[in-house]
Amino acid sequence: MSDVIVNVTGLRKAFGQLEVLKGIDLKVERGQVVCIIGPSGSGKSTLLRCVNLLEEPNGGTVVVGEHELTDPDVDLDFARRGIGMVFQSFNLFAHLSVLDNLTIAQRKVLKRDKDEAKKIALANLERVGLSEKAHAMPSQLSGGQQQRAAIARALAMDPEVMLFDEPTSALDPELVGDVLSVMRRLADEGMTMLVVTHEMQFAREVADKVLFMDAGVVVEQGPPSQVIADPQEPRTQEFLSRVL
Ligand code: ADP
Ligand code: MG
Repeated sequence: MSDVIVNVTGLRKAFGQLEVLKGIDLKVERGQVVCIIGPSGSGKSTLLRCVNLLEEPNGGTVVVGEHELTDPDVDLDFARRGIGMVFQSFNLFAHLSVLDNLTIAQRKVLKRDKDEAKKIALANLERVGLSEKAHAMPSQLSGGQQQRAAIARALAMDPEVMLFDEPTSALDPELVGDVLSVMRRLADEGMTMLVVTHEMQFAREVADKVLFMDAGVVVEQGPPSQVIADPQEPRTQEFLSRVL
C-alpha cells in the first residue's frame, strides 16, 4: 500500500478566463505536514478547495486515500469523510452549542449514536484544551477558542488528513499561539496535515515540506531548511524578504 495520502497531479482550475491553477503536482505522505506559502491571490485556497472538490478542477487528478475525487463516478460524500477542513473564518454553527457543533456531523454523516458522538466530542475538546467550553455558544468564545472548536469538530470525524486554510489569519495576535500549539500537537501525534499559512516560524519548525506558490504554479518546494531558509528562486526570495 502506498503511503501517499494526498496525490494531486496536473491540477488546473480557471474561473472564466482567469487561470488560477496552472498544473499543480502535490504529494502528501502519511504523517507529513506540508505547508503552502505564497502571496495573496496565488491560488493557495483554490488548491486546498480542489483537494476536497469544494471547487471542481478543470483538469488533472486528485486522489485522497483510496478515493479518486476527480473520478466522475466517485461517491463524493463518502470520499470526503476522510478529509477534515478548517477555514480562516471558523464556520461554527452559531445557533448550536460547542458540543452540538461537534456531534451533529458525527450523528448525521457517520450515524454514531448520541452517547458515542458525545464521548468522542468531549475527547476532542479535551485534545484542543476546550473541555470547559462544551456547553458554551460559539459567540461566548474568543476567536482562538472558536478556531480550536472548529479543529476539534473536524477531528471528531476521524479524518485521514486535515486541510487548514490560514487558520490563524483572522485571529488577534495574542490568540494565534494557542491555535498553533494545537496544530503542533496534532503534527506530533502523527496527523497528516496540509496547511496554507503565513506563519513562517510554524512552517519552518513543523513542516516536513514547504511549497511556495505564485500565480498558480508551484515555484519551489522542499524541506523548510531549503525553501524558507535558503530559497533558490528569485520569486521565493522576494516573497520571503517581504514576510520574514
Ligand atoms: P490565495 O488563497 O492564494 O490568496 P485564491 O485561491 O483565493 O488565492 O485566489 C486565486 C485567484 O482566484 C484570485 O485571483 C481570486 O480572485 C480568484 N478566485 C478565487 N475564487 C474565485 C471564484 N469563486 N470566482 C472567481 N475568481 C476566484
Ligand atoms: Mg486564500
